Amino acid sequence: LRLEVQDTERFKVISELTGVFAHEIRNPMQVSRGFLQLLDDPDLPYRQKEYIKLSIEELDRANEIIHDFLALGKPSNSTYGTINVSEQLKRTASLIQTFSVNQQVEFQTDIQDDCWMKADPQKLNQSLLNFLKNAVESMPNGGTVSLSCHNAVDGHIRITVKDQGIGMNPKQVQRLGSPYYSLKENGTGLGMMVSYQIIRSFNGKIRVESEEGVGTEFVIEFPGVRP
Ligand code: ADP
Ligand code: MG
Repeated sequence: LRLEVQDTERFKVISELTGVFAHEIRNPMQVSRGFLQLLDDPDLPYRQKEYIKLSIEELDRANEIIHDFLALGKPSNSTYGTINVSEQLKRTASLIQTFSVNQQVEFQTDIQDDCWMKADPQKLNQSLLNFLKNAVESMPNGGTVSLSCHNAVDGHIRITVKDQGIGMNPKQVQRLGSPYYSLKENGTGLGMMVSYQIIRSFNGKIRVESEEGVGTEFVIEFPGVRP
């Protein structure tokens, strides 16, 4: 699959297809996974246990890909509601905290009240989760993730996600947002593509500052609105 991230028409087609298939595919996968688990008897020969384990891992991987794509599949209304980003971000922050419960990652949030913008809250949430997830994953030895949201003086809503992780070189930063770009062993390379697309669809801009061995900061700016 080759996909130009700027190619909005093709992107729309893909996102519609995804929406149709994602949920339908997940159900039979869950059923298969359940039966595989039932088959997994401790007395089975090693080879058979190994096949079951691999099958479950592959199903989980497929599920992960669907998850990363899912936000694309939600019907895209051209008119979004006005949402309170501050409230939204507080919920996102507590979600990510459960995700990273067994990593030694600390969270710092600095969320100004009453930041409003036009967006689909579910999509915005999914895209911010992807940034936060990457931030956590960039720090295998722990560290701090900072999440902030402010009304900038120029009327923009400015959201930042900052980590103290492995960082990226300029070439890697440039490739962010292209499909299947992943440096992780089990990465999908879809999270950033989805997130970049979502943010652009809300007229947002993304700036990345990153240094290898120091960390990464994503600065995301949206046009602000009055409630
Ligand atoms: P995945 O997380 O599945 O690898 P993503 O699209 O979410 O896919 O991210 C693509 C790649 O961008 C990652 O594999 C990683 O190399 C790089 N990346 C994204 N965010 C960060 C970050 N905060 N710190 C370091 N590298 C990052
Ligand atoms: Mg990711």
